Amino acid sequence: MAKVTPRSEDYSRWYTDVVQMADLADYAPVKGCMVVKPHGYALWENVQAGLDRRFKATGHVNAYFPLFIPISFIQKEAEHVEGFSPELAIVTIGGGKQLEEPLVVRPTSETVIGHMYAKWIQSYRDLPVLINQWGNVVRWEMRTRLFLRTTEFLWQEGHTAHATAEEAQEETLRMLDVYTEFAVEDAAIPVIPGRKSESEKFAGAVTSYTIEAMMGDYRALQSGTSHFLGQNFAKAFDIKFLDENNELQYVWTTSWGLSTRVVGAIVMVHGDDQGLVLPPKLAPIQVVVVPIWKNDSQRAVVLEAVTQVEKMLRDEVRLRVDDRDEYSPGWKFNEWELRGVPLRVEIGPRDVEQQQVTLARRDIPGREGKTAVPLSASVSEVQEMLLTIQADLYHRALKFREANTHTPRDYDEFQEAILNGFAYSWWCGDAGCEAQIKENTRATVRCIPLEQEPGKGKCIHCGEEANERAVFGRAY
Ligand SMILES: [Zn+2]
Repeated sequence: MAKVTPRSEDYSRWYTDVVQMADLADYAPVKGCMVVKPHGYALWENVQAGLDRRFKATGHVNAYFPLFIPISFIQKEAEHVEGFSPELAIVTIGGGKQLEEPLVVRPTSETVIGHMYAKWIQSYRDLPVLINQWGNVVRWEMRTRLFLRTTEFLWQEGHTAHATAEEAQEETLRMLDVYTEFAVEDAAIPVIPGRKSESEKFAGAVTSYTIEAMMGDYRALQSGTSHFLGQNFAKAFDIKFLDENNELQYVWTTSWGLSTRVVGAIVMVHGDDQGLVLPPKLAPIQVVVVPIWKNDSQRAVVLEAVTQVEKMLRDEVRLRVDDRDEYSPGWKFNEWELRGVPLRVEIGPRDVEQQQVTLARRDIPGREGKTAVPLSASVSEVQEMLLTIQADLYHRALKFREANTHTPRDYDEFQEAILNGFAYSWWCGDAGCEAQIKENTRATVRCIPLEQEPGKGKCIHCGEEANERAVFGRAY
């Protein structure tokens, strides 16, 4: 079996190798597009399930809006059109005829949803509107990478409308919390929730919030965003309601999104030189059973035990039994390790004799990650082990981020720090200062963390007074 390029040799090759060899995705005939293969799609479906459950628990419902948007819609909000224009795919011919008005393939749906909300919302009784959509969007990208940046990608976009600014702001932060909880609990990815700087915010937003994560090569990945849109889209699309005093008011809107990018984050945060390492909560296959035998008489007894274990586990975990004859156990170990299955159950003649099974953890390679447990207790042992793996993956990633987050004392140290990690520094908030930092270090303000220690300091770059600290890093 071909091996993935070691991370230490070429991180970027390693990433592409893992994504392709673990069967997550492949390149499509159109440059910048990707085919999400069944293993990758099953992972995405588990991401969807984890989020969808949380969206519904916070009062949201799903709907679907069209892929095509009249180009005039995009032009209605000044910042929005400026931000998205370079990335638009535009349809000018339909059914063999030149269209009267060109159609944009949605890069995001604020405009068309705003148009519909203007129709649907009349009175304060119609508010809030809490709708989410699962779909795809197209942003014409020049440099693409599987999952991380593709011309077409899958995502969800939530769009809400509220009677007051306070309510809309609350909603924006509530959804940032939902993303944080999902990242931490399901994806085992530690994230820093924070505010985007003015230059990094969503085109058309008043304030953008993000969850930022550190990848295995110390670079940052924006893993989900939530935007307070103020009344910008309400005014552009005339979304008004009669309030309780019978006065006409513009609504306040939010939008929030998380995409297939998160699959790239899962690969980079947890993966190793053997391939993918999946957090049990999201793994399409949580446990693989691999029988081991040398001759036919062993085969019969081993398979009998395997059937027994299968019966016990199949309703408890997402299980695969790999009893293929044409591959050796060693080959199967490699294959399931490459595909990131969190836990392997090995059953050989010795295990049968001892009435036990051997559990092998994906996140701890070799002997160290193996334990024998009584066959009769395999359900509880397996379940407990999956919980342990889930928790350990999170803590390992958190330790890695903490070890590589620096607090430089001056700009020289800052420039050094940014080469291999995040820098957590006082920052003045000035866009010019930010641009200079970016020019000489390639690092950007990833976010201004919501959690701030009190006090004031001097900006790490220009020395001006600073009220907040920001996380700087090089980003994907
Ligand atoms: Zn400054």
